[in-house]
Amino acid sequence: MTKVGILGAGQLGRMMALAGYPLGFQFSFFDESPDVCAGQVGGLRIGRFDDAEALRRFGDSVDVMTLEWENVPLAAANLLADRLPFYPPPRALEVAQDRLVEKTTLNGLGIGTAPFAPVETQAELDAAIAQIGLPGILKTRRGGYDGRGQALVRTDAEAHEFLEETSQPLIYEGLVSFERELSIVAARSTTGEVACYPLVENHHRDGILRLTLAPAPNVSTALQARAEAMARELLRHLDYVGVLTTELFQVGDELLANEIAPRVHNSGHWGIDGAVTSQFENHVRAICGLPLGDTSATAPSAMVNLIGNHPPVEQLLAVPGAHVHLYGKSNRSKRKIGHVNLTPSTDEVLSRLQALVADYEDG
Ligand code: AMP
Repeated sequence: MTKVGILGAGQLGRMMALAGYPLGFQFSFFDESPDVCAGQVGGLRIGRFDDAEALRRFGDSVDVMTLEWENVPLAAANLLADRLPFYPPPRALEVAQDRLVEKTTLNGLGIGTAPFAPVETQAELDAAIAQIGLPGILKTRRGGYDGRGQALVRTDAEAHEFLEETSQPLIYEGLVSFERELSIVAARSTTGEVACYPLVENHHRDGILRLTLAPAPNVSTALQARAEAMARELLRHLDYVGVLTTELFQVGDELLANEIAPRVHNSGHWGIDGAVTSQFENHVRAICGLPLGDTSATAPSAMVNLIGNHPPVEQLLAVPGAHVHLYGKSNRSKRKIGHVNLTPSTDEVLSRLQALVADYEDG
């Protein structure tokens, strides 16, 4: 029986394993913290990502490795990739871990982004603002997530304040006045086969994804084709294996890429109940060289995240079409502790579900 090792043991790894067991695979996880929810569904090895010996031992205990967290240190990824099949390739992590490298790579492939400039010093900040204008967004090049490590700046003073506060390399981006945020999840197998999901529409509040509509309403064939072309180009360029997510801004008929996630993604969770094959199953299929599954949506779906706290399960399940996915995590403000997929979704039932979730949400 093929043993799959996963770096990181959060909800993404947990859902990967839950999707992969029916295919006959075994799963174990490596994480720095024992307080992780995937430990409930597979073997859990605790070690540090900079402990080469611990990583080697873990690698030797499995047949193929993947990850659920893109900020795995590059040295750890390289060490493992030298020993066994390790997907996605470390190069994809290198690109995704640094917003400057990421946006430069995207532009190099002909994929549009917000205008951007690197900022490490006050002089570079002044030059970036002179070139791109205000308002803009300052983001740490590394390590930010769920809206952390970034600030919308409207004045020179606000921008300089953020640079001083963070004291780490930043990127300054022009503010894109987009119509909506979309994303595309795509998978590429070890055989080179590629499958793309329909574009989905994402709604954030305070930097945290709250709602995904899948497929995104009002997507023309041309827009879907444009998104798929971007995803395919990235997958090819990175010699990628596994699921890759690209977050996009729609501006008129154009798509700008905001960032890539070299992993399964929150905006793909709807597919557990709303697609023929979920992103988690397709990730496992991809890294194990199996044929990819159909990515079509079976019905209009919505995914509502449960943040911080959630209504009693019986109340959620009383909503017609609701499929509850709790991650086995304790409640904490701003923390993603589960999601509800609504399949099929209608405006009326979705509003009811959102009102119920909002009553309990913390963060
Ligand atoms: P990020 O951490 O890059 O995913 O950004 C988090 C959120 O901030 C995005 O989902 C957008 O809502 C918003 N955002 C990020 N960059 C820009 C930009 N250049 N222009 C407008 N909004 C942005």
